[in-house]
Amino acid sequence: MDRAGQAGDEGAVEGGGVTPAGRPPSVDTLARSLADTGLPHALLVDAARAAVAAGAPGSARRRAEDLERLLLQPVVNATGVLLHTNLGRAPVGVDRPGRAGNVELDLVSGGRGGRGAAIGYLLGRLTGAEDALVVNNGAAAVLLCLTALAAGRDVVVSRGELVEIGGGFRIPEVLAASGARLVEVGTTNRTRRGDVEGAMAASVAAGGSGPAVLLKVHPSNYVQRGFVEQVGVAELVGLGPPVVADLGSGLLDATTPWLAGRPPAWLASEPAVRQTLAAGAALVTFSGDKLLGGPQAGIVAGRADLVEQCRRHPLARALRPGGLVLEVLQATLLAYLRRDGDAIPLWRMAATPLAALRRRAEAVAAEVAVAGVPARAVACASTTGGGSLPEVTIPSAGVAVDGDWSAALRRHRPAVVATVHEQATVCDLRSVDPSDDAVVAAALAALAGEWRRGGREEGDEGR
Ligand SMILES: *Cc1c(COP(=O)(O)O)cnc(C)c1O
Repeated sequence: MDRAGQAGDEGAVEGGGVTPAGRPPSVDTLARSLADTGLPHALLVDAARAAVAAGAPGSARRRAEDLERLLLQPVVNATGVLLHTNLGRAPVGVDRPGRAGNVELDLVSGGRGGRGAAIGYLLGRLTGAEDALVVNNGAAAVLLCLTALAAGRDVVVSRGELVEIGGGFRIPEVLAASGARLVEVGTTNRTRRGDVEGAMAASVAAGGSGPAVLLKVHPSNYVQRGFVEQVGVAELVGLGPPVVADLGSGLLDATTPWLAGRPPAWLASEPAVRQTLAAGAALVTFSGDKLLGGPQAGIVAGRADLVEQCRRHPLARALRPGGLVLEVLQATLLAYLRRDGDAIPLWRMAATPLAALRRRAEAVAAEVAVAGVPARAVACASTTGGGSLPEVTIPSAGVAVDGDWSAALRRHRPAVVATVHEQATVCDLRSVDPSDDAVVAAALAALAGEWRRGGREEGDEGR
C-alpha cells in the first residue's frame, strides 16, 4: 500500500512467485499470488498480464491495487464541500436485506400501485404540493416537464436565467431537446414583467395559443449583482400561463422546521419549494441530492393535473428511478416529517457548531502529532457545493499537515479525500462524520514513515 512498497518492487516477483533461472512467472501464478486483494481472479489476471507485458511482473500488485481503486467504494469526504459532486453529493446510507420491495404493489388492496406513490404523498405533506413525481435526477425532471407540457409550443425564459449547470446541462439545450421553442426575454441583467407580456402577445400573434409555460430558473450556481432585475414567481403567476420553477438545489421549506433553532444565515436567499408553490408556481423541479440531502433523484411537484400529465408521458417510464433510490428518498422525507434534521447527514454536517468542530480538530491533530506527524488544527471555510450557494462559506475547522499528501490519503482504506491549500494538506471536518474522525487520524498518522524519511511526495499529483 505505501509508496515504498510500490516503487521498489518493479522486476521482483512477490508472493512466492520467484521463478528459477529468472524466467518470468506465468500470468496465472502471478494472478494467484494477488488473491489476498479480494479482487475476482479474472481482474487479477488482467493486472498480471499487463505487468508481464510491460516487462515488470513486480508491478502486478500495484496494478491490481489501482484496479481496486477504480471500483466504487465508501470514502471519507474531508474536502469541506458538503455536496461534492465527485463524491456523490449528499452522503446517504442504505441498510436493507436482499429482499423484494413493494415498489409498485399496493399492500392494502393487493393490486398494482403507482411507483413511489407514498413519496408523492410525503412530498405533498412537506411542501403543500398536490402531487409529486420522482425521476432520475434534476435534469430529467426539467426535461420531462418541458416535454410533457410544452413540446411544439413556446416557453418563455429570462435571458438572465439561461443557466448552465455542471455536467453539460444547459437550459437552451434541454429546451431544444424537449421539442419546446425557447423564447428569450429581457437582457442578461434585467428582465421586467413587460418583457414577458410582450413575448406572450407575440406568441399569440404568431397564431399560437400563447406560451405553454413560463419557466423560471433558479441561478443556483452563480450570482448577479448590481443593476439587476428579475420577475418573481408571484408576478409571473399573475400573467396566466402555468409557471414552472426549476429550483435545482431546492430547499424544501424556507422555515427549516427540521433544524433546531432558526435557519442559518447562509441559507437566507435560497428559494424553497413550499414557498414557491405558495406563491402560485404550477410546478417546481428540484434535485434529490442537493439541499434535500437525499439520493440522486429529480422531483416534479405541484398541481395534480400537470404532475399527472408528466407521469403519463412515455419519457417518464424511461426516466424513472429504481426501488433502492425511492427507499432512500423515502427515508429522507420521513426524517423531514419527523423534523429530525440530525437524521439527514447533510443537515447534521451543516448544523454542527463551530466549537464542536474545533474540539474534534484539536483531538485529531493531537493524535496525529503523537504518531510523529506534525499536524495542527486550523480554521476552514466549508461550502455547500453541488452547484448551490456559490458565494456562501460556512466557518469550519480541520487538521492541516505541511506538504501535499493528498495522494497518500487517497491510498488509505477507506480513502480520505482532502484538499491542498497553500502547500498544506487540509482535512476539513465539517464534511466528515464524527465516527470517521478516527479514520482521518489514522490516515494522517500513517504518513509518519514517509514524514520521517523526509518524503514530501514529490510528483504525487501524477499518480
Ligand atoms: C442542479 C440543477 C439542475 C440539475 O439537477 P441534477 O440533479 O444535477 O440533474 C437543474 N436546474 C438547476 C437550477 C440546478 O441547480
